[in-house]
Amino acid sequence: MKTDVLVIGSGAGGTVTALTLAEGGREVVVLEEGARYSTADYGRTPTMAMGRMFRARGMNPIMGSVPVAYAEGCCVGGSTEINSGFWSRPPADLLAHWKYEFNLADASESDLIEHYGWAERELGVGLFGRPWPPSTAVFDRGLQAMGWKGGEQPRAAPGCSNTNTCAQGCPTAAKQGMSVQLLPRAERAGARVLAGYRVERLLRAGARIRGVRARILDGEDAGRRVEIAAEHVFVCCGPTETPALLRRSGITHAVGNTLGLHPYLKVVARFPEIIDADKSVMPLIQVKEFSPDVTMGGAYFTPGHAAVMLNENPMEEARDREVRRHMAAYYVGVRGTGRGSVRPSWIGDGLPRIHYWMSREDVTNLSRGFAQMSRLLLAAGAEVVYPASFGLPPVRSEADARAWLERDLPWTDLALQTVHLFSSCPIGERPERCVADSFGRVRGVTGLSINDASMLPDSPGVNPQATVMAMARRNALEFLRRAARVVVAP
Ligand SMILES: Cc1cc2nc3c(=O)[nH]c(=O)nc-3n(C[C@H](O)[C@H](O)[C@H](O)COP(=O)(O)OP(=O)(O)OC[C@H]3O[C@@H](n4cnc5c(N)ncnc54)[C@H](O)[C@@H]3O)c2cc1C
Ligand code: SF4
Repeated sequence: MKTDVLVIGSGAGGTVTALTLAEGGREVVVLEEGARYSTADYGRTPTMAMGRMFRARGMNPIMGSVPVAYAEGCCVGGSTEINSGFWSRPPADLLAHWKYEFNLADASESDLIEHYGWAERELGVGLFGRPWPPSTAVFDRGLQAMGWKGGEQPRAAPGCSNTNTCAQGCPTAAKQGMSVQLLPRAERAGARVLAGYRVERLLRAGARIRGVRARILDGEDAGRRVEIAAEHVFVCCGPTETPALLRRSGITHAVGNTLGLHPYLKVVARFPEIIDADKSVMPLIQVKEFSPDVTMGGAYFTPGHAAVMLNENPMEEARDREVRRHMAAYYVGVRGTGRGSVRPSWIGDGLPRIHYWMSREDVTNLSRGFAQMSRLLLAAGAEVVYPASFGLPPVRSEADARAWLERDLPWTDLALQTVHLFSSCPIGERPERCVADSFGRVRGVTGLSINDASMLPDSPGVNPQATVMAMARRNALEFLRRAARVVVAP
């Protein structure tokens, strides 16, 4: 098979790349490892969804100073199919910092604003609006009582109808995963999407990338390997698989050495009133008082997720279904100032090996964040706050909460989670630390770009999807512009 442009991965970065290039008149093929599902397949049980749509059924461990559980999507639409749809633009000074640190060209707030605006219009980003579900309303009550900055966070889920199955795929198509509108639009513009194709290697002719070798995963050709030739390859496999594929293909300079992530500590609060958190969308408020170092927001709550969160500190009452009706889950997230690495699997299971070394600053911020979150929830009327961390006592009073303002949570007992990884292949004009130039063109080879969360030079400090989409569109448009210049030039 031959194509003009090959896009690997159909998540936030891959879909925007495919759409922009197909609408720009290029011949595009998208190879996606995961299967394609329709909204009729979505909203099933968490176990079924994790088996179908998550990489490794949602069990991606990150090893290092503190173990972190990581989940990402592996299906047509990638992680956007299972994410929560929260939408954030990063602050202008963070983008300015990227320019200073990485010499990143043309990515200031004013350069990116049209691309954020484009994505927001396409995805119908907006507020859920009142009346809020109880898990949101109590959180807001705490926010008001503390007098802190924050409020309802916009989402890419217009018309959300509270099925509480965002992580299982949205069965109403309210949440704008890439499979809902943008990828079909790319197909209407001529892009071909092949699901169930895992790219194993990039193929080279000297310094030129000439295509890929992929393994077919499903159907009667399952197990067969195919080669696909392309004039240009965009790798959009996400923050762990992109560096793993580059390294498997012999491209190693600065690849997979600077992984960043947002570590999250979950808490479960019990209120006197009935909340029924599993019957509505997750809490919609984000607390900005301590951002960008610490953010707080709402976490997904199902009986299974509650069991996992409370399992760190088992207690009899959580077994009681009636007690669970009074609970809701929230998170404390930190910017992530530690660093990690990604390497391809060495035991043949296909899963990249991910390591992350938490910084002391992150642990201190988590501890302070936990203290402040507990204070807010107590002010909201919570009777008790359970940290989803091994052996830590529940917080029942202001004094219990304030204790964590003075000392750090014990590293060895932390049980953290994340769904935000990035920066494993930073872009910019500092060749010694940037895998690719400011527009994602990989150094040392021709015919190869990266265009997904791996390219963000550093932590965006906020939900990353908006920035992945904005930067991906900027890069794809620049690719079209340069190609047009080459054709026009004599
Ligand atoms: C549960 C969850 C909740 C989240 N909530 C939010 C949120 O509320 N707001 C927000 O901004 N962000 C959220 N995120 C993060 C956000 O979804 C990601 O940052 C974003 O999707 C990253 O885009 P990407 O293109 O880099 O990767 P992805 O969207 O993950 O897409 C990568 C795609 O590449 C495919 N792929 C990988 N390797 C190969 C290969 N070798 N061959 C072929 N295909 C391959 C994968 O199967 C996948 O489909 C969440 C993520 C998760 C998992
Ligand atoms: S809670 Fe809203 S956005 Fe999430 S799956 Fe249900 S309808 Fe879709």
